[in-house]
Amino acid sequence: MTVPGNLFILSAPSGAGKSSLIKALLSQENSVATRPMQVSVSHTTRAPRPGENNGEHYHFVSVNEFKKQISKNAFYEYAEVFDNYYGTSEVAIDAQLAQGIDVFLDIDWQGAQQVRMKKPSVTTIFISPPSKQELEKRLRNRGQDSEEVIASRMAQAQAECSHYQEFDYIIVNDNFEQAVSELNAIVLNQRLKCRQQAQTHAQLFAELLSDA
Ligand code: 5GP
Repeated sequence: MTVPGNLFILSAPSGAGKSSLIKALLSQENSVATRPMQVSVSHTTRAPRPGENNGEHYHFVSVNEFKKQISKNAFYEYAEVFDNYYGTSEVAIDAQLAQGIDVFLDIDWQGAQQVRMKKPSVTTIFISPPSKQELEKRLRNRGQDSEEVIASRMAQAQAECSHYQEFDYIIVNDNFEQAVSELNAIVLNQRLKCRQQAQTHAQLFAELLSDA
């Protein structure tokens, strides 16, 4: 029997380095790799940025299509962020978890609140920038957004940060290598919990407890 995968949420203000952290976690050399891991690909109504591919970074859909999916209850969670809709497909997540894959949701605090209600066993992680100044610098260095968008993202960052106490774990992304190892530690911690290990090693414990 396949042991179901774990569900993780990573939330952070835009520019805190969340995407790079997830990428490093999933790359072979950094990963704890005792289980397959995948990042969920969200649906969004925002336009693709240069270098973003449909189906890889997001499923880019129209507002009409997104609303149709809402009416079909197709989303595990969805929210309006920066005037665009973002949502996580329920079918896709359930299928990944059922295959024993650990799934990472890169979603905002509103989505995190909805998932917590539906699945209390979810592990939630808040990624914080080391300072406001550094956050602004990182947003500018991405070179992807206009001044207007950067100003609005800085304002939104404060709103996102105001929810930090709702999360199970906090990683302050100052030194990137350390942040990656802290993320690995959280993932490993989840996998080593008694209930999960008992399922993973069911045969071992059956043998240890048998009189034979
Ligand atoms: P970006 O446009 O920079 O890719 O993402 C903007 C924000 O939307 C980020 O905080 C990101 O975590 C959040 N986001 C991305 N996908 C989802 C989703 O499926 N649901 C929710 N609630 N937020 C999302």
